[in-house]
Amino acid sequence: MISETADKTVPAAVLAKYEVVIGLEVHCQLLTATKIFAADSNQFGSEPNTNVGVITLGHPGTLPKLNRRAIELAVRMGLACRSAITQYTVFARKNYFYPDLPKGYQLSQDKTPICVGGEVPVKFKDVNGQVVERSVQLHHIHLEEDAGKSIHDSDWNTLLDYNRAGTPLIEMVTDPVIQSAEEAAAYLTEVRRLVRYLDICDGNMEEGSLRCDVNISVRLWGAKEFGTKVEIKNMNSIRNVQRAIESEVRRQVELVEKGGTIVQETRMFDANTGLTHGMRMKETMNDYRYFPDPDLSPVVISDDWLAGIRAQMPALPKERYETLLNQYGLPEYDAALLADVRELADYFEAVCQRTKNYKAVSNWIMGPVKAQLTEKTLRDGQFPVSVDKLAELINLVDSGKVSFSSASQRIFPVLIEQPETSPEQVAQEQNLIQNSNTDALQTLVEEVLAAWPDKVKEYKKGKKGLLGLFVGEVMKKSKGSADPKLTNELLQKALSSPS
Ligand code: ADP
Ligand code: MG
Repeated sequence: MISETADKTVPAAVLAKYEVVIGLEVHCQLLTATKIFAADSNQFGSEPNTNVGVITLGHPGTLPKLNRRAIELAVRMGLACRSAITQYTVFARKNYFYPDLPKGYQLSQDKTPICVGGEVPVKFKDVNGQVVERSVQLHHIHLEEDAGKSIHDSDWNTLLDYNRAGTPLIEMVTDPVIQSAEEAAAYLTEVRRLVRYLDICDGNMEEGSLRCDVNISVRLWGAKEFGTKVEIKNMNSIRNVQRAIESEVRRQVELVEKGGTIVQETRMFDANTGLTHGMRMKETMNDYRYFPDPDLSPVVISDDWLAGIRAQMPALPKERYETLLNQYGLPEYDAALLADVRELADYFEAVCQRTKNYKAVSNWIMGPVKAQLTEKTLRDGQFPVSVDKLAELINLVDSGKVSFSSASQRIFPVLIEQPETSPEQVAQEQNLIQNSNTDALQTLVEEVLAAWPDKVKEYKKGKKGLLGLFVGEVMKKSKGSADPKLTNELLQKALSSPS
């Protein structure tokens, strides 16, 4: 089949004739304690079919009860994206049959999505390496319940786990405005960062708590009508979304160039081949027969309730970045890196409450601290060293009591191993308190120079490399406590005086 052979052979000049049009549908599982219409636990990774009560299973005669927390988390996302919040919203039944849908319908917001419009800021490098900053327009965000999970464990055997059924989801639908794989990746990265900042979803694509369907079409530049769109599913990382788009664009362009027609279909991405392939199942126009659920009353979000949600909004990544830049005077690079993860920015600001050397705090976090963190410990806020201890350590260096190298190489590792000890204690035990008393150090300098008269002569004749030897000797005599910088200065002064 021609349509299946898309490869990297489509020349760039041919690709350049086409405009790429992409719209994304992103599902985020909300971090509520319980399900959206039932009291079953909403927990990933439980034993199969343990979080399944009668409401989740749709037993006759049971009645759903809305979890207000799900509404609040969805509204948070809408406020973050500057969407209009729908204060009167109705859940409808989307009727279809599928084994993972025990009730035979999914509760979703059809005509009254909870958030309308809005935008997500993106910043990315385009194919030419040019930095582009713009906003991706949202069509809407709606709330719905997730379905269960089918596990196809052989060609003929399918297992069903209903734990996921009834998990609250928001679906964020963009307008068809995304123009490249790079922009789509930037959008997803920002959405993931936002949901994590807002603490509404863990943003984990591998576990499926954040899922993305890509709608994609191509048309000749200047064409008035959109091309026919194809929907791609089954990507479990941002990288794979990008790969899927690149491959699908080539496939569509190649097909159109050959005079073929794009058919509207759902395609699956295969991470092994990097290609998309059509699903055997032919997509017919679905008629879901939406109608308002008679068991649930409409949701009214009062002005007070809305104001309460608004009052609890945390600072967003962009504001955070600007605070780090302007209030703490950090360079752009540092500010971007720290603002990328809310926990990192929180930790930074907390340490800065206890020390005034903000740039040093940033250096410590970006260097030794970050080296100890994994993605998981970072997001769980499990820092290797407490805020107090890091601040104390930085203050010890700042006041000249210990050198930076002692602090980072000798004290910091001990603090990781023994969280109860204090930096000063470690410094004392290991004899790392610097002797910055100039008089005492001056005596050591003189002793050393007196002990090496020949070397001093050689130095004065021009063998300046011997300075290292003298520094080393002073360090030895001070048992490592001398401040290397001061030692250097005193030695150079002593050696330059005529004697
Ligand atoms: P459907 O009715 O098939 O669900 P929608 O109009 O609701 O289609 O759009 C679903 C998603 O597809 C949205 O993200 C939208 O931006 C995107 N989309 C719509 N038309 C196109 C197109 N021609 N090319 C690419 N994406 C599109
Ligand atoms: Mg649609």
